[in-house]
Amino acid sequence: MTVLYAENLLSAEGWVKSVRLLVAGQRIADIQVGVPAEPGDERHAVIVPALSNLHSHAFQRGMAGLAEVRGSSTDNFWSWRELMYRFASRMSPEQLEAIAAQAYMEMLEAGFCRVGEFHYLHHDIDGRRFADPGEMAARIVRAAGMTGLHLTLLPVFYAHSSFGGKAPSPAQNRFVHDLDGYARLVDRCRELVATTSHGVVGVAPHSLRAVTPEELDRVVRLLPGAPVHIHIAEQLGEVRDCVAWAGSRPVRWLLDHAPVDPRWCLVHATHIDRDEIAGIARSGASVGLCPVTEANLGDGIFPVLEFLAEGGRFGVGTDSNVCISLAGELSLLEYSQRLSRKVRNVVSLGGHSTGMTLYRQALDGGARSLGAAPAGLAEGAVADFVSLSLDEPAMECRVGDAVLDSWLFASTGGVVDSVWVGGEKLVEGGRHRHRDRVRSVYSKAIRELCA
Ligand SMILES: [Zn+2]
Repeated sequence: MTVLYAENLLSAEGWVKSVRLLVAGQRIADIQVGVPAEPGDERHAVIVPALSNLHSHAFQRGMAGLAEVRGSSTDNFWSWRELMYRFASRMSPEQLEAIAAQAYMEMLEAGFCRVGEFHYLHHDIDGRRFADPGEMAARIVRAAGMTGLHLTLLPVFYAHSSFGGKAPSPAQNRFVHDLDGYARLVDRCRELVATTSHGVVGVAPHSLRAVTPEELDRVVRLLPGAPVHIHIAEQLGEVRDCVAWAGSRPVRWLLDHAPVDPRWCLVHATHIDRDEIAGIARSGASVGLCPVTEANLGDGIFPVLEFLAEGGRFGVGTDSNVCISLAGELSLLEYSQRLSRKVRNVVSLGGHSTGMTLYRQALDGGARSLGAAPAGLAEGAVADFVSLSLDEPAMECRVGDAVLDSWLFASTGGVVDSVWVGGEKLVEGGRHRHRDRVRSVYSKAIRELCA
C-alpha cells in the first residue's frame, strides 16, 4: 500500500483538502478527506486525475519542426502530408519503436496517462508485407509498455486515396489493407494488447476518403462494443470532395449512413454546421479535438461553444505530436475561440473556471472515447493521477480552480511534478524514470532517418 498526502486534491466530486490517498496495487483503495498526514505519507501540494490523449500518430514526433518552411504560396495540409509520407516511407520497425517511446515518455511528462494510437504505418518499406502482420503494431505496444503509458491501440483501415474508392497512391503503400488482411491485423493487435495492463483495441476507418461505405460497414462490425475512431471534416477540401461524391457533407453523411453512437470518436470534425453539431451531440459520440495540430496544419476552428450547448462531449489529442503539451492543447482550444469571437472565457460553464471546465470535459471525453474506465479520483478507480508543483512563480498561492487555470494558461512548464499510471510512479520531479535511455535510443533513430 502506498499512501500519498495532498493539501488539495481534485476528486470525482470536486476539490477536497487535507487528503490521504491510499493506493493498493493498480487502484485507489481509499480517499480520506480532512485528515492530518501520518508519518511515512508521501506529501504533495496538489493531486489531479490524469487525462487521456485520445489521438496520436506517434511516428510523426520524429518530423516535428521539419515542415515549417513554405514550399509554395499555397502551402497547406496537403503539402504537409507529402512531406509526412516521405518521412514515413523510410522508417524501420526499430525506428518506429524508438520514436514512439520518446513521444509516449513526453506524453507522460506532460500529464497524460493513456494514448489513443491511430496506427496506420503497417507494412515494410515499399509496402512489402512483414511475416507478422502486427510487426509495426508490436512496436507501438512495446513503446507503451516500456514507458508505462496505458494504450488504446486503434489499427487503421486504409484502402483508397479519395472518395469513391479511388486506388491508393504509391506513397500510401505502407498503410493499405484489404478487409481480410485488416481483420488479421486486428486479431494480432488483440493478442498483443492482451499482454498489457488496461490495454484496449478499437477499430479506425481512416476517413471517408480512405474507405468505401461497404468497407466502413465491415470495419465497424469487426469488434462489437469497441471504440471506433475516424478522421472527419478536418479540411475544407475534404468537405467539398465529399459533397461532390455524395451530395452531403462528411459528418452529415456519417450520421445518416453509419451507426454512430457513444463508441465513436469523430476526430477533428472541424467543419460542421449547426445541424451536424446537434447530430453528433444526440448520437452520444465524442469529438477528438487536436488544437495544436489543427493550428499547425491550418485546419480551422471547431465550434466548441455551440457543441457544448447541445450537450456534446469532447476530448483532446496531440495528433501529429508537433508539440506534446497537455496545457498547450487545452489553452489553445480556448484561445482559438477567444480570437475568433473577440471575447474571453468562452469555455467556462456551470460556475466553473475555464481551466476547470476544459479539464473536466477532456478527462471524461478522453477516457470514454478510448474505452477506458471512467476517469476521476474515486475509491476503486485505476490509480492514474498527477501531482502539481506550486513552486513555479505562476502557481504561487493558487488554490481550487485557479490551480488548473494557472497551470494551463500561465505557466511555462515545470508544473507537472510526478505522474502515476496504474499505481506506478513513472515521472518524478518532471522526469520520466527512463528518460535518458529513451532519449538516447530516439537520438540514434533520428540520426539514421536524417542521414
Ligand atoms: Zn490524425
